[in-house]
Amino acid sequence: MNSEQLQRLIDTFFKCPKESLVEIFRELLGMVEAENVLPPGGLMSRNYETAQANPEIHSLPGNLKDARDAVLPFFWGTDGWNSPLHLENVKGPTNYASMVGALACLLKNPNLCVDTYCLRSNELEVKAITALANLIFYHTDTPWGVFTMGGTISNLYAGKIGIEKVCPGAMQKGLTGQRIVGIVSEAAHYSNKTLAGWLGIGTDQLIAIETDAQCSMRIDRLEQRLDELYREGVPVAFVIATFGTTDAYGVDDLEAIHRVIHEIAARYDRPAPHLHVDAAIGWTGCFFSEYDLSKNPLQIRESLLPRVEKLQSLARGFRLVDSVTIDFHKMGWGHYPSSAFIVNRREELTYLLREKQEVPYFSEADYRHDPALFTLECSRPALGPYCVMASLNGIGLQGYQLLVARAMELADYLKQRLESLDNCMVLNIDNLGPQVVFWVLPKGRDAKQIYQAILDGTIKQDATDRYFSEMKRLFDKRQQAIDPKVDARLSYTNSIGFRPGGRGLPAWKAVFFHPGTSEADVDRIVASIEDLV
Ligand SMILES: *Cc1c(COP(=O)(O)O)cnc(C)c1O
Repeated sequence: MNSEQLQRLIDTFFKCPKESLVEIFRELLGMVEAENVLPPGGLMSRNYETAQANPEIHSLPGNLKDARDAVLPFFWGTDGWNSPLHLENVKGPTNYASMVGALACLLKNPNLCVDTYCLRSNELEVKAITALANLIFYHTDTPWGVFTMGGTISNLYAGKIGIEKVCPGAMQKGLTGQRIVGIVSEAAHYSNKTLAGWLGIGTDQLIAIETDAQCSMRIDRLEQRLDELYREGVPVAFVIATFGTTDAYGVDDLEAIHRVIHEIAARYDRPAPHLHVDAAIGWTGCFFSEYDLSKNPLQIRESLLPRVEKLQSLARGFRLVDSVTIDFHKMGWGHYPSSAFIVNRREELTYLLREKQEVPYFSEADYRHDPALFTLECSRPALGPYCVMASLNGIGLQGYQLLVARAMELADYLKQRLESLDNCMVLNIDNLGPQVVFWVLPKGRDAKQIYQAILDGTIKQDATDRYFSEMKRLFDKRQQAIDPKVDARLSYTNSIGFRPGGRGLPAWKAVFFHPGTSEADVDRIVASIEDLV
C-alpha cells in the first residue's frame, strides 16, 4: 500500500476542501449567469455518437477540477429552463431557497431509509410531509407519508394500497390470477398505466372514464361503470382522481367521486376502492384555501376571482380522500426529486408494512421512524424534505400565493388575447391552472364553430383530420420562424384529455411556470400567431 498516495486521495476527496469547492461553485455560478443572457435552447449540440463508444475514465488520480472538467461540457450543454421564454411544459426554473436546501442536504447525504442513517433529516421529512398534508387535507389528524422518486412512484404507492385493500395478502401471495381493476379519467397521467403494468394488474385493467369538456372525470360515467364492474363481481382496487391534469388542468370533483364510490361499493357490500388524488400539478391550488376573496390582498384580477372561488371549493374535496401525490419539483419550483406520497390517515400505510424478519439488517426498526419498513425504495434521498422546507419557509405562504396567482393571471391573459381571434380557440378557458391549450387554424377558419361541430358530431372525420393537420403545420411553421431571443417556446399535445366522439383533441400548449414571463412576452406570442397565414 502506497500510504502517501492514499493520504493524497483522502486529503483531496474526503476532507471538505472548502476553498476548491467554493472556487468551482463560483465558476459554475458564472456559467449560469452567462447562460441567462443567452436565448433558451441548445447551448451546445449533442454528441451521442461517442457517448457509448468512448466512455473514458482517467487512470491516474486527479483532483476536484478533474471532476469539474468531466461534467462541464454536459453542464454547459444543459438548459436550466431559467428563461421566461420557456413555456413548453410543466418544467421551469428552480427557486434558490430550494437550492440552499438541496446543497445542505448534499453536504450530509442523509439516507431516509431508517432514522439511524439520517437522524434529524428524518424529522425534517415528518415536518415537510405534515406541512404539505395540512395544506392539502386541511383538517387531518394523522397524516403521514414519504418522499419518493417522482409522481409516478407516489401514484404507485396508492395503487399498491388499493390492491391490498381488495386482495388482502397480495404482497405475499400475488394476484393469483384474479382480475382486479383500477379507475382513472381519460385525462389522467400515463404514470397510472405504468403502475397498473408494474403492479401486475395489467395496463388493460386500468379503466379510463370519459371526461367532460373541462377535462374533469364524468361522474355519471363513473357511476355507471362502477355499477357494471361490481355487478360482474370485479374488485375495484383504486380510483385515482386527478387534480390538475398535465395538459389542461382539468380537476376531478373529489366530493362527488368520494360519494359515488362509497355508495356503490356499500350497495354491493364490497370494500370501497382506495381513493387517491394525483395532484402532482394541481396541489398548489391549495395555497388559496384561506385566501380572502372579498379583501383580495394580492389584488388578483377581478375577473379571476370567481374561478379562484371555484378552485377553493373543489380543493375542499381533498379532506375526504385517502391519499395524494404532490410534485414539489413541478409547481413548487423545487429540485428533483421532491415528490411526496401522503396519506390522510396513517393506518393506510399498514397495508404496505413489511415484517421485521424481511428487513434483517434493520433489526431496531420502528415503523414510525424507519420508513424502510414500508417504502418501495431502500436507500432514499432527503433532497425532497430539504427542498420543500427551505422553499416553503423562504418564499412563505403569501409568496407562493403570489407566484401561483401570477401564473394564473398570465394564462388568463393569453386566453383572453387568443379568444378574440376568429381562427383561434382556447380549449380550457374555464380551467384555473398555469396551462393554456388552444387551437390555431389558418386565417379565415372559424375555430369556435369547428370546435362546436366536433362536439355536436356534425363534422366528417376527414374534415377534422384536415383541420388538425393544418394546426400542426402552423405550429411547425411558427417553431421554424421564431426568434429565440424574444419569442416564447410553446409545445404541442396530441390529446388534451377530452375526447368528444372518442377522439383526442390536439392543441398548442403554453405553460406559465416562470414568474418572470411578462405580458409583453404574451403579446409577442399573439403577434407571432397573427403573422402566420
Ligand atoms: C408529471 C405528472 C406525473 C408524473 O410525475 P413525475 O414526477 O414526472 O414522475 C403524474 N401525474 C401528473 C398529473 C403529472 O403531471
